[in-house]
Amino acid sequence: MRPPVVELSGVSMTYGDVTALADADLVVRRGEMLAIVGPSGSGKSTMLNIMGTLARPTSGTVLVDGHAVDELSDRELSALRARTIGFVFQSFHLAAGVPALDAVADGMLYGGRPRRERRRLARQTLRRVGLGHRLSSEPHQLSGGEKQRVAIARAVLGDPPLLLADEPTGALDSRSGAVVLELLHELHRAGTTVVVITHDRDVSASLPREVHLRDGRIEHDSAAPEQVGA
Ligand code: ADP
Ligand code: MG
Repeated sequence: MRPPVVELSGVSMTYGDVTALADADLVVRRGEMLAIVGPSGSGKSTMLNIMGTLARPTSGTVLVDGHAVDELSDRELSALRARTIGFVFQSFHLAAGVPALDAVADGMLYGGRPRRERRRLARQTLRRVGLGHRLSSEPHQLSGGEKQRVAIARAVLGDPPLLLADEPTGALDSRSGAVVLELLHELHRAGTTVVVITHDRDVSASLPREVHLRDGRIEHDSAAPEQVGA
């Protein structure tokens, strides 16, 4: 059997005397879709950065696709990240003046592939997110919702098994937010494991599993109701 996509055991993160994440245990299985929800400052982005191997925790173990992150060199970690994880952020992270097709084709993932192949894949992926007619549009010519769809296309180019989205609808009006959320559901239905960070309880309630964070602690996980409370 294939290992969970992500497994956190006793993971803590402190910044000076701030405990951003305290003793977190979380298993994300292949094909799941879940929300990590909590108020501002509850540790959501910290958890996402650790799951995404962008940050190493102060203590505890992190397994990504069965690999113990703390046993990998930075180079091995980058390689694991590149083939396993796509990232989406609230603020899109699209460079000004770069057409959608280039933004997607030149994303980190599969950077080693020939340019022609990347552009072919990028075109296909932009069609998949409903932007086949916007290939040459630059960020300033796109709505917020469209920018986020470009960012999602970039994140899923080459089909990484895990998509991590940090407040993907946080900068969007409710209608574009709903479109982006529906796209994430579609990717999930097509087999991608999707983790959505949000402070919005309506968003989290619409996902199959909710993990509630408060003050750096998991206070509720709908997939493990018997573990609620402490
Ligand atoms: P959320 O995403 O839920 O708003 P964060 O994970 O960003 O929460 O932050 C959790 C706590 O950790 C907050 O108190 C925040 O101020 C602190 N924190 C996060 N990143 C850093 C950092 N790089 N340096 C110092 N403190 C940080
Ligand atoms: Mg955050």
